[in-house]
Amino acid sequence: MFRKKIIHLLNYSGIFCLVIALLLKFCLTTTFIERYYSNSFFFSYRQFFNHVSGAFPFPFSYFFILLIISITVFILFKKRHKYLLLANLFCFLGAYFLWAWGFNYERRSQDELLQLSVTPLTKEQIIHYLDIEIKKCDSLFRTKDNFSIADIKDAINIHRMQEHLVQNIPIRSQPPGSLMHMGITGIYFPFTGEANYDEGLHQTRKPFVIAHELFHALGYASESDCNFLAYIHLSHAKNSFLQYSASMELLTYLLLDLKQNDPPLYLRYRKNLLPKELQVELDAIKKKHAQYHGWLSDVGDAFNNFYLKSQGVKDGTENYSAFVPMAIAWNERK
Ligand SMILES: [Zn+2]
Repeated sequence: MFRKKIIHLLNYSGIFCLVIALLLKFCLTTTFIERYYSNSFFFSYRQFFNHVSGAFPFPFSYFFILLIISITVFILFKKRHKYLLLANLFCFLGAYFLWAWGFNYERRSQDELLQLSVTPLTKEQIIHYLDIEIKKCDSLFRTKDNFSIADIKDAINIHRMQEHLVQNIPIRSQPPGSLMHMGITGIYFPFTGEANYDEGLHQTRKPFVIAHELFHALGYASESDCNFLAYIHLSHAKNSFLQYSASMELLTYLLLDLKQNDPPLYLRYRKNLLPKELQVELDAIKKKHAQYHGWLSDVGDAFNNFYLKSQGVKDGTENYSAFVPMAIAWNERK
């Protein structure tokens, strides 16, 4: 009788764990989460993931996904309580997602922490900062060297205390197009603590995307915060390729802002006002993305937008570009 009651309770344990996690997500303050989860509890997870997932020579996420599929199939073949068990499994995964990383969506944003005065850019400001970034990219293009993952980790270490945590984060290169076909260039897999990027990315974008995913792995959930942190850390890197990658990313976003504000002027920049080598570079980046673009990447983008909004990111995928005024405010304050 007692054993039956325990099994009955276990059938609901995932649902119970998710309800508790959701209650905490909505009830705890950003200050509490920042102090006790993101800067304390989460680092224990980070250590754990670095040791466990990092010990595997292949992405541990493959094993995890296979395990969940196997459990799902096993449950589906059961005769009794299959829907309850399935609901329990997915609720348990939802709770695990929140405990292992998801609470970081509730932490304070970088512009708030650094007290940056961030305002939307006017057309004149877009042109002004675009011209600055063009000059920077043009000069870095001539001096840029090559780079390694270790260079990117070093660039992030300069400003951080948790050196051992950064050095051991597993970074996985995924086959060309495997992520970009789904509309994403990189992804942090919170269930195994691995940062992934698409090998099909243009070389210029790789350092920025990898740094962005590394910041997710360090407990930053917001897309604008990860873009901002990747920008400021790579801008100060010793390696000139990393500086170039950061500046090219900001330049690309500024060009997109200009395209929205003044399409004819954007075309003039793209065709005449940009130095020839940067035009070639931007065309090559565009071509790489077009290679993997299709209906699946549109679906992936829509799903990403829905996912971010479900986590409380009001502007969804627009949040990626919110780093532009943050980076400008940071550069102006120096
Ligand atoms: Zn991201």
